[in-house]
Amino acid sequence: MHILLMGPPGAGKGTQAAKLVEQFHIPHISTGDMFRAAVKNQTELGKRAKVCMDQGKLVPDDVTIGIVRERLAEADCKKGFILDGFPRTVEQAEALENIVAELGLKLTCALNINVPAQELIERAVGRRICKKCGATYHVKFKAPGKAGVCDICGGELYQRADDSEATMKNRLAVYDGQTKPLIEYYKKAGLYKEINGSQPMDKVYSDVVTVLHG
Ligand code: ADP
Ligand code: ADP
Ligand code: ZN
Repeated sequence: MHILLMGPPGAGKGTQAAKLVEQFHIPHISTGDMFRAAVKNQTELGKRAKVCMDQGKLVPDDVTIGIVRERLAEADCKKGFILDGFPRTVEQAEALENIVAELGLKLTCALNINVPAQELIERAVGRRICKKCGATYHVKFKAPGKAGVCDICGGELYQRADDSEATMKNRLAVYDGQTKPLIEYYKKAGLYKEINGSQPMDKVYSDVVTVLHG
């Protein structure tokens, strides 16, 4: 199972990826998570990525492709992976094709989680993440038992710096300009599958599983 999870910012990629990991025990590779870890650790990569992320722009392709190439070469990716938030440009998709071929792997499908733009802003602005275990919540759609505290580990919840309404508008424009063309790209490759992401999380997940079995 070598799956791509695509969709606009806030569509529910991370939420669905977490459910897939629980059921299928394959690695979840999120370029956004990798960049946030680098920012936290103040590495050279993190310093470069932060400037772009804060503006809602994409990190340059060469940098992004480099970290994905390294990660996919690790042994745990042989059995499968869930790539979340990569590729986001046609150049990244072309590079991924080469990387996967070099590793002797084959992509299973590109799942696009489709959600209307007006819902995406509400989802992103209300998103909260656990500092300790990374679990994702929403103030309205997936509220923790106690405000600001993770149900799973008791960690403190925080809001991503780029989850403001203003930055989300930039991220949505970047999505339309640079990432949306990938829909055609994966249709042509015969890998494209669309999921209605505008439903409750569990229903989205059962649709994901149905599509994966189909
Ligand atoms: P992405 O990884 O695509 O940016 P997330 O999975 O982090 O998206 O989801 C964005 C926010 O929306 C989170 O706060 C999450 O809890 C919430 N969310 C995810 N899926 C749904 C859904 N089907 N309905 C309502 N809210 C959702
Ligand atoms: P979301 O799913 O909510 O859009 P991510 O965590 O996937 O958020 O990405 C956060 C930010 O990290 C992006 O706005 C961008 O700056 C950077 N980023 C993540 N993935 C990529 C990628 N494949 N190419 C370029 N930049 C990326
Ligand atoms: Zn936690």
